[in-house]
Amino acid sequence: MPALRRTDALADCDVVVIGAGAAGLAAARDLVAAGLRVQVLEARDRVGGRAFTDSCGGALFDAGAAYVHYADRNPWVEIAAELGVSLLEHRGWGAGVHFRDGERLPEVFRRERQRGAGRLWELIYETEDDRGRSPDCSLLDLVRDEPDGVLQAALRYGRQAIGEDPERVGVADLRQLWEGPDRTVPSGYGALVSATAVGLPIRLGTPVSRIAWSAGGVRVESGAGVLSARAAIVTAPVGVLAAAAIAFEPALPASTLDAIHGLRMGALTKVVLAFDGERFGWPSPSDLYPLGSGFNLELWPFDRDIVIGTIGGTPARDLVRDGEAGAVAAMLDVFAGIVGSDARKRLRAGRLADWTAQPYSQGSYSYAPPGAAGLRDALARPVGERLFFAGEATSGGGDTVGGGMTVGGATLAGRAAARQAVAALRA
Ligand SMILES: Cc1cc2nc3c(=O)[nH]c(=O)nc-3n(C[C@H](O)[C@H](O)[C@H](O)COP(=O)(O)OP(=O)(O)OC[C@H]3O[C@@H](n4cnc5c(N)ncnc54)[C@H](O)[C@@H]3O)c2cc1C
Repeated sequence: MPALRRTDALADCDVVVIGAGAAGLAAARDLVAAGLRVQVLEARDRVGGRAFTDSCGGALFDAGAAYVHYADRNPWVEIAAELGVSLLEHRGWGAGVHFRDGERLPEVFRRERQRGAGRLWELIYETEDDRGRSPDCSLLDLVRDEPDGVLQAALRYGRQAIGEDPERVGVADLRQLWEGPDRTVPSGYGALVSATAVGLPIRLGTPVSRIAWSAGGVRVESGAGVLSARAAIVTAPVGVLAAAAIAFEPALPASTLDAIHGLRMGALTKVVLAFDGERFGWPSPSDLYPLGSGFNLELWPFDRDIVIGTIGGTPARDLVRDGEAGAVAAMLDVFAGIVGSDARKRLRAGRLADWTAQPYSQGSYSYAPPGAAGLRDALARPVGERLFFAGEATSGGGDTVGGGMTVGGATLAGRAAARQAVAALRA
């Protein structure tokens, strides 16, 4: 954790920023650079939000964001370079090995899966639909008449990339999200995001419970008392806002409330197993796909002695019901089913990163159900020129909405909100 500037007494300021994740940190940095007095209030005892580098059995892993997506335009490529943090090209998706009931499936199976994924992509971007489907049908409706391989691709994409079951995810939002090459951060994406907090006026362990807003400014109630400011930038995830964890007075306009309740949070979840150095004959890194388990397994990332399992949607929500011990045991069963029961003896530690259970995230990241693709932009619209919502869910709105769901999008959103706040306060 980087050294943060300590702010003991809360002094009234120009802009209060709620949340010290990627969006809040970007907003605070730009506001400070613009010469404004800023106070960041963060509920957790750490910065970074859903970008969090944790450890399991002494090995680092990213419990939340791990990939710098669409690297050709992601602001984190430049930020990493400025901070001297190395990024690696990602090896690409889909080269992994499939298993069913512990049996390795032949290479031809992988190629069929690739074909299914290719067809799914065509369907998502198809603009002419001769089967009368709505251009914003669900991911499941999109593949209803397709062969099983395409249905499986939709299940995989929905759960593993969006964190949600395909019947809940709308395709119009998927169409507007940016695509591009991925990069990885060996020293941790969470650690990289946290490094940008250095020098900013952040108060940790300070959950905000109420914001009273008017044309004159805002009064923000938190565990540290009441803070008055001329404006507020709110970066709490939409799941937190939908749960009404922060009360707004007067109530937010209908368009903002519709956006908060119309966007939903997925359930992408990670389970990590740490081993004693035994690699069970698999090189670093290897991707294994045990069909029917709900998990994708990444073995020995960055040559570390860990296996990271990702699981999303309904299987993830079912898995986390039994807590960390249950989730670790379930993933160990899957892994031992592939590499043999020796895995049980060689296990040193296990971790569950369940973002659905955390009060300050209430899910993994936002997705738009059918009909909700425009809500990212709607949430990005300033409220009374005094309240600005930012975060991965808005990705800054307008022509940057394609960064939705990601750290890059959260950063663009924080920057956009800072620009709007500066303009509003100077008007
Ligand atoms: C498992 C998982 C895997 C992911 N993988 C990737 C990936 O590979 N690549 C990628 O780009 N993105 C990924 N993401 C998404 C990415 O982590 C988020 O898009 C991004 O970190 C969101 O940043 P943010 O600033 O919008 O929100 P957050 O990081 O959630 O920041 C919001 C902050 O507000 C704080 N807060 C909440 N409520 C209050 C309150 N009442 N008062 C004060 N503070 C409050 C929170 O504690 C938090 O620090 C992943 C997420 C998860 C969960």
